[in-house]
Amino acid sequence: MQQQIRTILDQAEVGAELKVSGWLRTRRDSSGFSFLELTDGSCLAGLQVIADQSLVNYTTEIKKLTIGCSVEVSGLLQASPAKGQAVEMVASAIRVLGWADPETYPLQKKRQSFEFLRNFSHLRPRTNALAAVARVRGRLTQAVHLFFAERGFVQVHTPIITTSDCEGAGEMFQISATPGHGQLSRGGSQPEFFGRRAGLTVSGQLQAEVYAQALGRVYTFGPTFRAENSNTSRHLAEFWMIEPEMAFCDLSCNMALAQDLLRFLLADVLMHCSSDLELFDRFVSKGLIGRLQQVVDQEFARITYGEAVDQLLTVDRVFEFPVSWGMDLQSEHERFLCEEVYGRPLIVTDYPAALKPFYMRMNEDGRTVAAMDILVPGIGEIVGGSQREERFDPLLARMEAAGLDVQEYGWYLDLRRYGTVPHSGFGLGFERLVQYVTGMQNIREVIPFPRTPGFAPC
Ligand code: ATP
Ligand code: MN
Repeated sequence: MQQQIRTILDQAEVGAELKVSGWLRTRRDSSGFSFLELTDGSCLAGLQVIADQSLVNYTTEIKKLTIGCSVEVSGLLQASPAKGQAVEMVASAIRVLGWADPETYPLQKKRQSFEFLRNFSHLRPRTNALAAVARVRGRLTQAVHLFFAERGFVQVHTPIITTSDCEGAGEMFQISATPGHGQLSRGGSQPEFFGRRAGLTVSGQLQAEVYAQALGRVYTFGPTFRAENSNTSRHLAEFWMIEPEMAFCDLSCNMALAQDLLRFLLADVLMHCSSDLELFDRFVSKGLIGRLQQVVDQEFARITYGEAVDQLLTVDRVFEFPVSWGMDLQSEHERFLCEEVYGRPLIVTDYPAALKPFYMRMNEDGRTVAAMDILVPGIGEIVGGSQREERFDPLLARMEAAGLDVQEYGWYLDLRRYGTVPHSGFGLGFERLVQYVTGMQNIREVIPFPRTPGFAPC
């Protein structure tokens, strides 16, 4: 394989004979030669190539190269007199691999809005910003696995097709097989492949709990689907979620893990993706790197839901949604607290039971549960988690109160019948994390192929 530009810029020595391939970013003509800037996607920086008029195809091809054309260049690496780059390549041969008609190629040199680029999911990763997002996202994926492996967690692949709606929120996509290939459902006339209603998972948590109560520490990291009707900058219909689940772990152990994970991930990308982050810091969110470093260096703030409500009631500020004990914190409240009151990530614990799903552990007060959400500046909720209800009777009572079909959850109740243990876990939305790390305003920019209501082009 040919060397990538990132290794050439990092390691190759002046005088080396090289062959590189990539796409043209710019061509500037001078008298008797042209400067070509090449990128191959391996890093933000491009490689400057000097194409002399003595090249056989200089007038026939090289002078006709435009942005987006693909080429293969052979040549010699030399020290560069230009500012901002240590080396450049003097071409001895340039072969055009593919042309890109400038009349129709949508990615031209002028800066194009992210909204405009959304129309081109298939081309936008060739822009500097979207390529940088993809590299950061890839690095974060690796860092997630690294974090858990170092702490003795086993990755579990929970199902994508599910028959339990974990949140009971009615946000599940239903799936159906081609008619005629399934069994008849009880009572219904629609053929159902699994003999019962099935859908795309909204969370791997319940199944992760099964494995946590056998292996101790587990995590899932997979695609998650929600038929969210809201068209917001923080919701997708298909997203990825990281969900650790730990036996023998209470709420404070759970919070400690979530905080460690977030700080670890931020420190990792600060270390491994520094040039990409510099791009975001300059063009997307000024001061980003400093803010991320602060998060790494500081403990998160912590308050209970009750304290949050008290604070919101005493501040001199009018909210669109009025504040009272028992209401769900809206995005405006969450952002006010972590951006303006604390100025850093904030963990809110002990929400009213009525606001949270049945599986969260009831507190002594009988009206709040051992829940914790982590809110971050600029985004709001990034993590949602809890200690799970491990006691049989309270769990059954919550399930009945929630109107769940208890028969369907026999397996979940079995975990409390046989060797039940205190356990906890949380869900970290991967795209919200990538948004946080890159400063990108809209979640549609941090997943390669976003799916939102009315939108799934390729
Ligand atoms: P929100 O109130 O923001 O809709 P939620 O309470 O529905 O979030 P949870 O069910 O607790 O979220 O899911 C855990 C995490 O998954 C969230 O903290 C968030 O980071 C992420 N998440 C939830 N829904 C979405 C979505 N539609 N698109 C992207 N990420 C999401
Ligand atoms: Mn939601």
